[in-house]
Amino acid sequence: MSASNRPRTRAAFEGVVAYKPDRTPVSIDLSDNTSRWGTPPAAIRELGRVELLSSRYPDAYSEALRESLANYATVGVKNVVVGAGSDNVLDAAIRAFGEPGDVLAYASPSFHMVPMFARMNALRVNAVPFTASGDVDVDALLAGNPAVVYLCSPNNPTGMSIPRGTIERVVERAPGLVVIDEAYFEFSGATVADLIPHSSRLLVVRTLSKAWGLAGLRVGYALGDAALIREVEKSRGPYTVALPSERAAAAALVEDGAWMTHHVAAAVESREQFAQALAERGWEPLPSASNFVLVPMANARACASAVRAAGIAIRALAGLDFPNGAVRAANGNALRISVGPEAERRALLAALDSWSASCA
Ligand code: PMP
Repeated sequence: MSASNRPRTRAAFEGVVAYKPDRTPVSIDLSDNTSRWGTPPAAIRELGRVELLSSRYPDAYSEALRESLANYATVGVKNVVVGAGSDNVLDAAIRAFGEPGDVLAYASPSFHMVPMFARMNALRVNAVPFTASGDVDVDALLAGNPAVVYLCSPNNPTGMSIPRGTIERVVERAPGLVVIDEAYFEFSGATVADLIPHSSRLLVVRTLSKAWGLAGLRVGYALGDAALIREVEKSRGPYTVALPSERAAAAALVEDGAWMTHHVAAAVESREQFAQALAERGWEPLPSASNFVLVPMANARACASAVRAAGIAIRALAGLDFPNGAVRAANGNALRISVGPEAERRALLAALDSWSASCA
């Protein structure tokens, strides 16, 4: 068959490239901000149950899981939608509230999949730089009458929280949907979910992939006004969360709250120790409210390769436009490093030390 016989892809797909993370095996993976403290015990127990290998479909909209999440987030069950990871929820929300040709505006740099999802749904993207003080430029964000506004707090990849007052101003003034991505909120302790009863345009998106240690199950969720949630659910479609994922996630939420908070506290403690160790070595990590740290570094790519050769994966980023002296001095290059337990932190610092000694 000749290439000319192939069906045409949608025009909006031009420039969309499939995500290809480097998955060559390493002994310590600090590249994707998932938990380094394992999987909650109740989830492991549920995943061992043979009856989960059922020939029946799961519940179409995961009622039992939504109930557990509603309790965790202290909202009503009608205020929760779940999906196959928060990626799935973000994609569904953008599709539900953005017509092809509409604008999605976001404070940049941020989670790289969001402009991808916008393009995949034929929206145009407005990436708005942060102000000189590191806050969101609210006027610029809302200037093009965006159908969807996306803000991430704490933000990936900077690790910094967006001030609550800024989010309140955006929610008050935005003409369309406002998505606040709280994938890392457990590490900051700050949420804007309490604004939901006061706004019919606010969608707070979260995940069980980070603090809850369940990335492999692919469970994400969003909280919002019941009418808003119904639209996201329609756009997402039925039967999205697999039965074993639903059962294991619901059990963890009910039984393993103390497990989760214990490991979040360990991650926060480890993050502070790590930031201090980096500062002692003359690096200038950005202040983080998350489970990862952004370390501006001109030769980040070379550093990440050397560290990978030592069996540890960290993420090298380039082209960051962020108003921070160290980021600017490093020409927008940086390492994004997830925090792990002490032994992993020490192994990474040793790899960084031997790399920097080899550069001297
Ligand atoms: N939002 C942010 C800010 C993220 O960093 C990530 C994962 N890297 C996601 C959403 C997606 O997470 P998941 O699909 O695993 O829920």
